[in-house]
Amino acid sequence: MDHLNSKLAIDGGMPVRERMLPYGRQHLDEDDIQAVVEVLRSDWLTTGPAVAEFENSFSRSVNANESVAVSNGTAALHAAMHAIGIGVGDEVIIPAISFVATANCVLYTGGTPVFSDVQSDTLLIDPLKIEANITSRTKAIIAMDYAGHPCNYDALRAVADKYGLYLVADACHSLGSSFKGRLVGSLADLNIFSFHPVKAITTGEGGMITTNDKELSRKMRIFRNHGITTDHLQRAKQGSFLYEMHTVGYNYRLSDIQCALGVSQLQKLSKFVKRRREIASIYDNALRDYPVISPLSVRDHVLHSYHLYAVKVQLDQIGMNREQIFSALRAENIGVNVHYMPVYRHPLYKLVGTNENNRCLTAESVYEQLLSLPIFPDMTNEDVSHVVDAIEKLHN
Ligand SMILES: *Cc1c(COP(=O)(O)O)cnc(C)c1O
Repeated sequence: MDHLNSKLAIDGGMPVRERMLPYGRQHLDEDDIQAVVEVLRSDWLTTGPAVAEFENSFSRSVNANESVAVSNGTAALHAAMHAIGIGVGDEVIIPAISFVATANCVLYTGGTPVFSDVQSDTLLIDPLKIEANITSRTKAIIAMDYAGHPCNYDALRAVADKYGLYLVADACHSLGSSFKGRLVGSLADLNIFSFHPVKAITTGEGGMITTNDKELSRKMRIFRNHGITTDHLQRAKQGSFLYEMHTVGYNYRLSDIQCALGVSQLQKLSKFVKRRREIASIYDNALRDYPVISPLSVRDHVLHSYHLYAVKVQLDQIGMNREQIFSALRAENIGVNVHYMPVYRHPLYKLVGTNENNRCLTAESVYEQLLSLPIFPDMTNEDVSHVVDAIEKLHN
């Protein structure tokens, strides 16, 4: 690095790069564009053949029997809570650190989210701390594969089975990851994915639930279509206009336009994961020289797809706190982010009153150290060097 530039941009120096490097973004190519254009020229824009095609190829790629496509990852979580029958008075255990949607889906159906503490070195829900939060009202555990690192599904399954709970995986970070050689998407009773542009593959907005349980997938297919028992294709086949509604559903359908993009993106998933892992390994090596920033741990028997490259800021190393480091890196045009504040610290959850007497102390303390560095398949090695250069400037 040019030592003339070594003054931090936040102190008036030159930033390490001219344009902001985002923390994540989509990769789209001509095949993706062509796939969408074909649908635009076809007869079906929604609930046509591309939906089943996307669902089937998704099932194959994660080794699940059933995939249900919905309009986004949050709708997928909602459909999952509906399918397992979460209602008023039911408790669902979730990690203290996640995106708000992981907890909100429990509120949607009238249930109560119960936040459970995370491991300090992975930020994954701590299987050893779950049992203390189980009551006679507990119905399910939602695990979340933070950053793309799969949870210990053997340990989670053991707890779930011991108490007769459903095990749900919020796998919105971990498409393409595996645990002990088993693919994410096949590890929990219900597995939730998002296709938001920063996620592993994108459909603009989109979501999927995978399961091996036919009855649960049937309920979710009805739920995504207003609660109506047949869709227009089934009615056409039966030669009937009749349909019935037994439960309240929503319009959570994913269009053919989006599903065609999904099919095309899915073909590139392993390439995307490979590049994310390459970037992570460059970071791993480079960061050894900079004690202020340390990567999270990666367990044995795990293939990590690195939706995020999250690090912990070692607060005692230099006289800056996380907020100051965040601002200094942003001033260098490095789009760092923070994933996430403990969910129960949001004003809504204070109002709901969850965890008032049950704070998750590890989550609260680790949160103060958290930072996500940019990572996405199209990031060049030069982009990665800019991030490392900016971190080096913090140490000067
Ligand atoms: C992205 C995400 C969601 C929600 O997905 P959307 O498609 O944006 O609704 C839920 N949980 C986690 C952990 C996520 O990262």
